[in-house]
Amino acid sequence: MFRTTMAAAQVGIFVLQDQRFKFVNPFLAGLLGYSEEELIGRMGPLDVVTSEYHGLLVEKMALRAAGSPGPAYELEIVRKDGSHFPATILGAPALIDGRPASVGTLLDISVQKAAEQRIRELADYDVLTGLPNRRLLRERFVQLVAAAERDKEELAVIFLDLDHFKRVNDSLGHSVGDDLLCEVARRLDSVVRRVDTLARLGGDEFIFAMPGFHSAAAADVARRLIDVFSRPFEVGGHELTVTPSLGISIFPHDGYDLETLLRNADTAMYQAKEIGRNAFRFYSSEMNSKSLDRLLMESNLRRALSQNEFVLHYQPLVNLESGLIVGVEALIRWLHPELGLIMPDRFIHIAEETGLINPIGDWVLCEACRQAQAWVEQGLPAMAMAVNVAPVQFRQSGFIEVVAGALATSGLEPGRLELELTERTVMHDADINMGTLSALHRMGVELSLDDFGTGYSSLAYLKRFPVGKLKIDRSFVNDLETDPDDWAIASTIVSMGRSLRMTVLAEGVEKAEQLALLRKMGCDMAQGFLFSRPVSAEGMADMLRRQPFISR
Ligand code: C2E
Ligand code: MG
Ligand code: MG
Repeated sequence: MFRTTMAAAQVGIFVLQDQRFKFVNPFLAGLLGYSEEELIGRMGPLDVVTSEYHGLLVEKMALRAAGSPGPAYELEIVRKDGSHFPATILGAPALIDGRPASVGTLLDISVQKAAEQRIRELADYDVLTGLPNRRLLRERFVQLVAAAERDKEELAVIFLDLDHFKRVNDSLGHSVGDDLLCEVARRLDSVVRRVDTLARLGGDEFIFAMPGFHSAAAADVARRLIDVFSRPFEVGGHELTVTPSLGISIFPHDGYDLETLLRNADTAMYQAKEIGRNAFRFYSSEMNSKSLDRLLMESNLRRALSQNEFVLHYQPLVNLESGLIVGVEALIRWLHPELGLIMPDRFIHIAEETGLINPIGDWVLCEACRQAQAWVEQGLPAMAMAVNVAPVQFRQSGFIEVVAGALATSGLEPGRLELELTERTVMHDADINMGTLSALHRMGVELSLDDFGTGYSSLAYLKRFPVGKLKIDRSFVNDLETDPDDWAIASTIVSMGRSLRMTVLAEGVEKAEQLALLRKMGCDMAQGFLFSRPVSAEGMADMLRRQPFISR
């Protein structure tokens, strides 16, 4: 029965004495690839275990020989043919023929090990792309930093984010989005070296940790990474062109730990997006204070709106023929409770980026219309109220309704309202904007092109757009009397405006010489410190009572 049991047992069973096999069952012999004769009396455990486990094995055998049983342990077995497998050993001391021996069991655990490995992979790797995930990145990063410190080397962290990836998902579906990410991962992987770690943080965010890279070399890699996107991606029958934005931070200058370096690379990445995407940026410590400023600014702007901290100042628009104020431009100011008066150049672009420009712009429209109508009702000379409209605001759906609402609430005649748009606002998607412009025009609202000459206007559109006025940008007026180029540009705009039957106004007139030249050119209107700086509503009302404003 003993022999049959030993022959049938489906685990390896052995007896050791003097560090040699005294018995092995057929299952163990089969597992090791030797015959029982080859093993018994001739070989010992050290002959079938990989060398790195010899130390452990010697120690265990000594313990068993000394009569102490111990917990199970794992080691790596070598078969006769040289192949390996992991095994668990359970040994117990015994006395055979009056001398110390041990009886052991050997279990092949390759299946469990493979499962463990798979679990580790699932925990460490991104399921979609097969790239390391954040967890593994963090683990490797610790080693990379240790090595960089030892070798006094730098370590670059590159944060890569796809531009407008959401659009792919939204318009073509998530499975196309997923395929695109896999394709991107594959291409990116082909660029990195073996020592680099490319990980996916989730979404469309990829991270590169690259040891031994200083700034110049990192810039080189960043360029190569951008190049990867120069060819379109073919996914799900679509040819997709995507671009990345990259931010780079360098250990140890920009941080000592992964979290800080990632955060800083992320900040730099956002800067790259701001400068126009498909670009890379290095982190610089000013970025943080800048983004902090922005955060403060943003939350302050929100509060400013609810606390009524904005005011409008007004600057006269003067007709050069009659010398009368024929209009005023409403210019927003922020009366900050602690910082005092803040000019629009400092906050309008932040309001635009955060979308706060819409509620702010709506307020400006309503307030300007209300004030204009109030002046009419006070019996002051009728004039136009010019209001600046930001691109985002102009493109928001419902802008026409906002304008109509401001007019209706105030009771201002539509022809008294003039919207100032920049060339960039109207020329961008000119065909789409044409609809909005025409609708406003039909309502009777006047339209003018602000900062004219700084953008790029298509003459074809200019002719078709229902714009009644061009405002020559003040950069051409600044040196009008000394710079022949500025003079040429200004006079060209004046004659072009005339032939298109538009009114031309010169901005930023500060000197009498400039005014004289503009008059000679035949410019219709002017605005500038020479006449008046922007003033409060009361100041403006006083000025309107003192018409005519300038002598002919
Ligand atoms: P803008 O529409 O070109 O407004 C004219 C700017 O030129 C005003 O600056 C005005 O104070 C300034 N200015 C007028 N005459 C002179 C002059 O003789 N010399 C010089 N050096 N400057 C002169 P401000 O008020 O700082 O506004 C700057 C810009 O902010 C405006 O440029 C406009 O683009 C924007 N802005 C102002 N208010 C609003 C608003 O309510 N909504 C929007 N979206 N933008 C606004
Ligand atoms: Mg303006
Ligand atoms: Mg302007």
